[in-house]
Amino acid sequence: MTELPRLPTSGGCRETPILKQRGQREVFCGLTGIIWLHRKMQDAFFLVIGSRTCAHLLQSAAGVMIFAEPRFGTAILEETDLAGLADAQDELDKVVDELLTRRPDIKQLFLVGSCPSEVIKLDLAKAAERMTQRHAPSVRVLNFSGSGIETTFTQGEDACLASMVPVLPETDDRQLLLVGALPDVVEEQAIGLLEAMGIGPIKVLPAPRADADLGVGKNTVYALTQPFLGDTHDALTRRGARHLPAPFPFGEEGTTQWLAAIASEFGVAPDLFEQVTAAPRARARKAIAQAAEALNGKSIFFFPDSQLEIPLARFLTRECGMEAIEVGAPFIHKGLVGPDLDLLATGPTISEGQDVDLQLDRAKAAKPDLTVCGLGLANPLEAEGLATKWAIELVFTPVHFYEQAGDLAGLFSRPIRRAALLKLEAAE
Ligand code: SF4
Repeated sequence: MTELPRLPTSGGCRETPILKQRGQREVFCGLTGIIWLHRKMQDAFFLVIGSRTCAHLLQSAAGVMIFAEPRFGTAILEETDLAGLADAQDELDKVVDELLTRRPDIKQLFLVGSCPSEVIKLDLAKAAERMTQRHAPSVRVLNFSGSGIETTFTQGEDACLASMVPVLPETDDRQLLLVGALPDVVEEQAIGLLEAMGIGPIKVLPAPRADADLGVGKNTVYALTQPFLGDTHDALTRRGARHLPAPFPFGEEGTTQWLAAIASEFGVAPDLFEQVTAAPRARARKAIAQAAEALNGKSIFFFPDSQLEIPLARFLTRECGMEAIEVGAPFIHKGLVGPDLDLLATGPTISEGQDVDLQLDRAKAAKPDLTVCGLGLANPLEAEGLATKWAIELVFTPVHFYEQAGDLAGLFSRPIRRAALLKLEAAE
């Protein structure tokens, strides 16, 4: 290899006019992110200030975590709080005091806002400040919103990470920061590949513990591992860190381009890059080819949900032979997904936001072979005879980097294979 892999400079969807939709939306709320965040931050506790509905959402979504030491809970806002009859701030102080006395292992406490706490305008920033003063230095109290009002479910992680950035210590060290909560095994694979190229030191946000040696400053460069981290990106930029734009590490090509952007920043020789990536690239290509047999030539329609839609459309069209009809995303931040748009061939409608009835009409008219959507839309679409994939599975399943590329393609090929079998059975 004489040079590192490069991105095309023209030909993609970056300049395609975006169909902007502002109507009724069907998405989960940001509390969902607590389910994966609490596994990553081992000394953190997420206290949702919400209603019984919020508590039920967390309990049912986190049902699989029943054997884990609980790192989240809900301070229920009762009717008296909602009616303004009780001082919710006093109540909150009491709940937090009790929690921290009972659980000295908690070093970071996140007060998580919800729809009810936003409706009554409970000032959680003020509460976090007051509690930090009271419980410092042993506990750091931060706040973010997971409310479902005007937000989508992956924004919970973004809001959480963004809340941590302003309190990170200042450092002038030259370092690479990987930003995004990935399953440990996947994170280790990424770090292993980068370290094999001699890149370091490498830090991760979120760090597993509050006392991890993690700072940020003007010599920090950062790579995002998830396309939904717009606020975190802005917060890091405000701290002087520099973003390394790249396609997101989904599939063989996305992973290679993502690694190449970092390798280029750190002056890695093309031969070393080739030596480190050749074998896992070949494995990824082989695994994708197997899963993609069922995807080749099939059409796909994305409803806006996880914010992974644009990078996934790039992967499925370029590496699995699919045709994208519409790629809907809740928000399109070209500073983040621009490189993926560059690679996505023109043709599909690129839409931002949602007007769910209009979009359902477009999907039904297009009759895609596969529709990626939220849980609430999947059943009605299946009833119409359309095969669907739940977007939320994409954030609960390890799908990043080379070793997971085959599994990622498999997540899309399974519903298509299943639909074909059902058709066959119906015909017999
Ligand atoms: S935050 Fe809002 S959308 Fe989410 S569970 Fe609570 S009430 Fe429902």
